[in-house]
Amino acid sequence: SLRDRLHPLGQPLEARQQILRPLRLSQQQLLEVKRRMQREMEGGLAQETHAKATVKMLPTYVCATPDGTEKGDFLALDLGGTNFRVLLVRIRNGMRRSVEMHNKIYTISEDIMQGTGEELFDHIVNCISDFLEYMGMKGASLPLGFTFSFPCQQNRLDEGILLQWTKGFSASGCEGENVVGLLKEAILRRKEFELDVVALVNDTVGTMMSCGYEDPLCEVGLIVGTGTNACYMEELRNVELVAGNQGRMCVNMEWGAFGDNGCLEDFWTEFDATVDENSLNPGKQRFEKMISGMYLGEIVRNILIDFTKQGLLFRGRISERLKTKGIFKTKFLSHIESDCLALLQVRHILQDLGLKSTCDDSIIVKEVCTVIARRAAQLCGAGVAAVVDKIRENRDLDFLKVTVGVDGTLYKLHPHFSKVMQETVKQLSPKCEVSFLQSEDGSGKGAALITAVACRLREAGQH
Ligand code: ADP
Ligand code: MG
Repeated sequence: SLRDRLHPLGQPLEARQQILRPLRLSQQQLLEVKRRMQREMEGGLAQETHAKATVKMLPTYVCATPDGTEKGDFLALDLGGTNFRVLLVRIRNGMRRSVEMHNKIYTISEDIMQGTGEELFDHIVNCISDFLEYMGMKGASLPLGFTFSFPCQQNRLDEGILLQWTKGFSASGCEGENVVGLLKEAILRRKEFELDVVALVNDTVGTMMSCGYEDPLCEVGLIVGTGTNACYMEELRNVELVAGNQGRMCVNMEWGAFGDNGCLEDFWTEFDATVDENSLNPGKQRFEKMISGMYLGEIVRNILIDFTKQGLLFRGRISERLKTKGIFKTKFLSHIESDCLALLQVRHILQDLGLKSTCDDSIIVKEVCTVIARRAAQLCGAGVAAVVDKIRENRDLDFLKVTVGVDGTLYKLHPHFSKVMQETVKQLSPKCEVSFLQSEDGSGKGAALITAVACRLREAGQH
């Protein structure tokens, strides 16, 4: 602020800006991120380099976006972040084309997330049982789509080996196992109902499918919620892990792991390193840790601590609460940046954290939130730019019109994230015209659509 510049020493402002500088990215730097993402994508797709690749580019066995003929009643499960949900999805085709959904949300406590796999899957089956009872459907045996938003190696649609947990999950005995098998075993243990698990679905793929139902140009799925990830329609000839050269297959990029081989080192700050060290999975999911809801609040908190230690904020006094991990929620970034919110209310948020702030303090905190959210949105945009240009080049086009289906609370509720991300994509991929479509419940509706297509193919005897 002006006052800082007039300050006899003029130093606090300069000191803060120096700390924030590495967190502000230039267009050149973002182009570099895009280029590196494209290189890692190639590495994940190619047979020879796949095993060592960090961006895994996993085949999903979803080979087409919806065509509107899907129909039937389906169950869907959504496991992969903050909440667990069970859904009943009713899809009608023809003149009365519609999707009707009923769902119930269940919490998964940290104890269960970090307990044993058996406890986790018993809990899931418990919730399904409760849901069937709640819907008055005990005894019905519906086809089920399981949205499971963690990296899985799939060899077919209805199977997936968990490569590793992310986003706060660490239940034992699951990594390296087929999670559809774990679910089926838990259903058998309960001896109460039977379910036909037809598809294991990543949330990015569900999002792409649910948006594809409304917009046939939708060939990319993007999540920016607790974590971040993307998928897109790749040419089968480039998916070297799967036989065949004709047509396309959706690839689950698992782009959250971008940078885990050190390729983003020059963008990685001391604050990113601290957040990483204090996470459940140090060294893993580095791109995700710079972008998604589970981590942005933590980055801001660590910067505020640093500023305070250097006497650049809160008169140099750190509250006990500010030292507590997770206390600065990512939703505060949204609240603090919403334009209708006066600085006075920023002070209220800080007060709740036991921080006595001056008006200048709230301006500084707001600036930190802006810088961190902006960097996240730009990095995410650089990733999207890499994807849409890859699709364009795959098809030998000078110009591509494409839609990205997006889900995730951070994307949907942050006041500037989507705008900054979209501007970045426009700047980095001038040969693509990219539209963004918010999915309404990709994980539920999308999983049901994938299940519907699979059932149709199965009935047609093509499976
Ligand atoms: P998930 O990714 O677990 O499926 P969501 O898409 O709902 O679920 O994302 C939840 C995450 O969104 C939370 O971890 C939190 O970090 C973030 N979040 C919640 N509320 C807001 C908000 N108002 N603004 C920005 N981020 C938010
Ligand atoms: Mg979700």
